[in-house]
Amino acid sequence: MSTTKGTLFILSGPSGVGKGTLKQRLLEEFKDNTAFSVSATTRGPRPGEIDGKDYFFISKEEFHRIIEDKGFLEYAEYAGNLYGTPRKWVNSILNLGKDVILEIEVTGARQVMENTAEEISIFILPPSFAELERRLRARGTEEEEKVQRRLETARRELGFADFYQYKIVNDDLETAYQELRRIYLQHAGFMK
Ligand code: 5GP
Repeated sequence: MSTTKGTLFILSGPSGVGKGTLKQRLLEEFKDNTAFSVSATTRGPRPGEIDGKDYFFISKEEFHRIIEDKGFLEYAEYAGNLYGTPRKWVNSILNLGKDVILEIEVTGARQVMENTAEEISIFILPPSFAELERRLRARGTEEEEKVQRRLETARRELGFADFYQYKIVNDDLETAYQELRRIYLQHAGFMK
């Protein structure tokens, strides 16, 4: 058994910035040392999403019960749905000496920064707001109203970037990944 605790990493950034892709690559490269925290949410599953793998899809009542039991390390409302990180699971993985990556939005991230001593926070930025808008539209799957709402949210989220220890601009995916990898290796539990 490892005696060193793993490191808690927070990864945030607006929708469309590519944080999911970057996180996935990091998890694949360091799969023996890292784990992704599966959050609970009250939103319904999107096509292809699997309960217990992408999220734990739970009811509002269940979510509130977990809040009362202090079962979340952090939680937040985003676009009308609740999202929370399971406290016990995160702590047990960290105690095994593995690193945990939380891909969470900004208000939940602030709660973790305030309540946890040694987390490493990383914010993924688009090269520009115009480029983020272009990427969101290029998905081509959403009506204009929804795109506008995502852009408003993105603008608000970008205002939180300065609270994070590290900022990575995702202009070129490979360059951004190398930067994320460097930060990860600098703080990973197995490198301590
Ligand atoms: P989506 O519904 O698109 O999967 O996620 C919406 C937003 O919620 C994303 O920014 C995602 O990172 C964030 N999110 C997912 N799980 C959690 C969580 O447990 N806590 C918080 N605070 N945000 C989360």
